[in-house]
Amino acid sequence: MGIERIREQVFCNEVEKALTDVAKREYNKEPKDLTDEETYYSLLHVVKDLSASTKRISGNKKIYYISAEFLIGKLLTNNLINLGIYDRVKEILAGYGKKLSDIEEIEPEPSLGNGGLGRLAACFLDSIATLGLPGDGIGLNYHFGLFRQKFSDRLQTAVPDKWIADRSWLNKTDISFEVCFGKKKVRSVLYDIDVVGYEEGVNKLHLFDLESVDESIIKKGITFDKTAIDKNLTLFLYPDDSDEDGNLLRIYQQYFMVSNAAQLILRELHEQQIDLHRMYDHAVIQINDTHPTMVIPELIRILTEEKAMSMDDAIDVVSKTCAYTNHTILAEALEKWPLEYLEKVVPQLVPIIKELDKRVKAKYKDKKVQIIDKDKRVHMAHIDIHYGFSVNGVAALHTQILKDTELNHFYKIYPEKFNNKTNGITFRRWLMGCNPALAGLITDLTGDSWKKDASKLTALMEFKDDADAAAKIMAVKQRKKDELCAYIKEHEGVELDRESIFDIQIKRMHEYKRQQMNALYIIHKYLEIKAGQKPVRPMTFIFGAKAAPAYVIAQDVIHLLLCLQELINNDPDVKDHMKVVMVENYNVTYAEHLIPACDISEQISLASKEASGTGNMKFMLNGAVTLGTMDGANVEIHDLVGDDNIYVFGKDSDTVIKLYEKSAYVSKDYYKKSKVIKEAVDFITDKKMLAIGHKENLKRLQDELLNKDWFMTLLDLEEYISVKDKAFTDYEDRRSWGKKMLVNIAQAGFFSSDRTIEEYNRDIWKLS
Ligand SMILES: *Cc1c(COP(=O)(O)O)cnc(C)c1O
Repeated sequence: MGIERIREQVFCNEVEKALTDVAKREYNKEPKDLTDEETYYSLLHVVKDLSASTKRISGNKKIYYISAEFLIGKLLTNNLINLGIYDRVKEILAGYGKKLSDIEEIEPEPSLGNGGLGRLAACFLDSIATLGLPGDGIGLNYHFGLFRQKFSDRLQTAVPDKWIADRSWLNKTDISFEVCFGKKKVRSVLYDIDVVGYEEGVNKLHLFDLESVDESIIKKGITFDKTAIDKNLTLFLYPDDSDEDGNLLRIYQQYFMVSNAAQLILRELHEQQIDLHRMYDHAVIQINDTHPTMVIPELIRILTEEKAMSMDDAIDVVSKTCAYTNHTILAEALEKWPLEYLEKVVPQLVPIIKELDKRVKAKYKDKKVQIIDKDKRVHMAHIDIHYGFSVNGVAALHTQILKDTELNHFYKIYPEKFNNKTNGITFRRWLMGCNPALAGLITDLTGDSWKKDASKLTALMEFKDDADAAAKIMAVKQRKKDELCAYIKEHEGVELDRESIFDIQIKRMHEYKRQQMNALYIIHKYLEIKAGQKPVRPMTFIFGAKAAPAYVIAQDVIHLLLCLQELINNDPDVKDHMKVVMVENYNVTYAEHLIPACDISEQISLASKEASGTGNMKFMLNGAVTLGTMDGANVEIHDLVGDDNIYVFGKDSDTVIKLYEKSAYVSKDYYKKSKVIKEAVDFITDKKMLAIGHKENLKRLQDELLNKDWFMTLLDLEEYISVKDKAFTDYEDRRSWGKKMLVNIAQAGFFSSDRTIEEYNRDIWKLS
């Protein structure tokens, strides 16, 4: 018996005994008599104890991953898998007549992230621990997270997402720091969540909270006094920033995060008696997007003011410690804070930032690389690039665009800093956790070496012409579709056709992701069916997306989709041929139900705009076929699966970038030229639509598409329609579709976040 098996057995026996003990102590019951909720809390207790007794990963050098978001998802199943006791706990529960899936439902999902960037941070923590690397996450403990989405009158409304229960995965520590904003002072408290590696030790996710936080200041919806910073700093992630107070609050939050991070890191270095002149031999800080950028001037400030280091040395040491990950080329998403705001919030950092800027201006004449521009705006990414040692993009195409265009001026100065780290996802959650049936089938076919080394999934390629293997994969897909039908019936009250094609687009609502293009396809199909042209097989279009509350057009697209859902699902001519459902409050839990059931994965961003995407990887791993543009990691998916196993359409990134450079895209031209486009766009304000929805929203969206369409929806619409139709036709050749599914799964190994983290470690962190 291998050491892992023995450990697993010991754990399993412990688990049953521990569960019995907890049930007795907390509820005075036998485990079999517990309610599902009591069972959940008992398991929470047991698993927390087990991870507390698991070895803390340590080493000579440690990675600190600082991020405004950690979209970790529910942790029970994930931790059971990583502790190696998932199957056994399922059995134990079955013995009590319970299903783990019912117990999972009880757990609230931590609301600590917004989308891909936060989910990436969570996958990375899982992989860092799994690879046995010492590394902790540092972020904030937002009490109400992003927001919970509710639909009312076919519009999105936002309410606080109260995810923290009395008993949760959070462990309060006795660590607390003072954080100063000029003369104002607040105190933090630190909560930790254990991050259990797969059959490995544990790292920590450190979540700082405001000691004086006050939940009672929340008024209607998610509104609250933005100026009450001694009460509001850890209430919400990304509070509304449409006014000055909102902007200041975001800076307060960011500084609160990095001041705590810097104090924690220096405290750990001090405990190990590290000479701070050699800090970079023992610590590396990964700055996830620009939100944590102020950690750079903050560390320099502490080293010079409190540790008696010279400015030259402090800048040198900090620059060798910090590395930056860029997640976007959207100009509006690159943070530029007015210097005046920084003077109000963090006056102590302003002299440091000015010094950093002065050194840049002395060395480089190019205005595009300045930190403080002529309008006195501080470009946060520029601080990271000048005063960090590594700049990475998150997919091959994205990194190339950074080098060639967006950050070309920096690339010319620092070519050696630029590198690519194509994103990845943890297979523990996105295959073993959410699709155990498929995981089991893969193991039956190829053995289980893929669990520790995802590149071994290519062993499936041997079965690519095996009709029996393809049939089994399709049978698992059908089972997951049946489960999703039941879940959606329960949660949305919509009945889906289990035999229809499931076409899914789930991601944040944003014009560049082009959900509106998918909506226009749906309108086009609706009009075809109304005209008597019926599809061979019914089609189901599923959406899930939250929109930033201040993003008007994104709200309008949600409204359009909800109106289409109402119209189509109730039209007797159409409803047996197509259905539309936009699920409420899309989050990690919902993704775990949707992705295994997907046939066609919609990845249709305007080429050059999606830095990587990770949803695309989760779908591929679960046997969905991608319908996508040559954008982000779709390019790498295409390289891996080949033309036959992906549906590609649309103008490429070079063409799109040139269109922007020349301001050459005019959406009206496309509208005028094409009957199909005109009919679909016109229908947005058809009287049937106005009978269901609001003219204000629908008209505004239509006008946007006709007069601006900044993300070029109409540019690719005709090709999208024809390629999507082709995919739906090909789906009818079940045998060859099964092969496409198999090839996608087999080639997904590259997108394991274990691979991504190995590359970060090899090229950037160099942990010994
Ligand atoms: C993976 C994931 C995302 C990112 O999806 P993209 O399609 O890459 O934008 C966003 N939200 C949730 C809940 C996810 O699980």
